Amino acid sequence: SEDADYLISLVRSIPDFPKAGILFRDFMPVLADARGLKLLIDALIAALPVAADEFDVVAGLEARGFLIGPALAARLGKGFLAVRKAGKLPPETVSEEYTLEYGKAAVEVETTAIKSGDRVLIVDDLIATGGTAKAAADLIERCQGTVAGFSFVMELSGLEGVENLSQYPCSALMIMP
Ligand code: 5GP
Repeated sequence: SEDADYLISLVRSIPDFPKAGILFRDFMPVLADARGLKLLIDALIAALPVAADEFDVVAGLEARGFLIGPALAARLGKGFLAVRKAGKLPPETVSEEYTLEYGKAAVEVETTAIKSGDRVLIVDDLIATGGTAKAAADLIERCQGTVAGFSFVMELSGLEGVENLSQYPCSALMIMP
C-alpha cells in the first residue's frame, strides 16, 4: 500500500555499521517523521501477533524497543516494562545470558518487575538471529511470566530469527534482505 511504501522509504540503510560487512537498518527516520511515526504505531497495532486482550504488559528490549514499546502500550491501555542490558539496573535483578557471534551478553529485569502469570508482548525494532528475543522470552518465563508473542518493526531475512521463536506468535512489519 501507499502507507507501507512510505514507511519503508523512511528506513535508512547504512553499509559497514557498526562493523565492516554489516548493512545496518536504521528506523530512527521513521520516528522523526510525523506521518511515519503515526503510521508505524498504527501498523504495529494492526499487525499484533495476538489479540490485545491476550496480553497484560508490553516489554521493550533495550534500547530501540524502548522507543516503540511505550507508545504501543499507551495506545492499548497496557503498562510497559523495560528489558535491560546487563549492569544497568539496581539489585536485585534476574539475568539471562545469551551467546553473540563473539562472546556473550545478558538481558535483565528487576526481580519484582514481572508477576506470576503476567502475559507479556515483547517488542523490538529488529530481529536478526533472534538471540536477543529468545533470551528475553527465557527471562520472562523464568520470572513465571507468559510470553504472549513478539512484535518487530523489521525482520532480517535469511537468518531464521523468527524460526528460532517458532513456539511464539510473531509479527514483523518489514522483511529486509
Ligand atoms: P539478534 O539478537 O536478533 O541477532 O539481533 C537483534 C538485536 O540487535 C536487536 O536488539 C536489534 O536492535 C539489534 N540489531 C541487530 N542488527 C541490527 C540492524 O541492522 N539495525 C538495527 N536497528 N538493530 C540491529
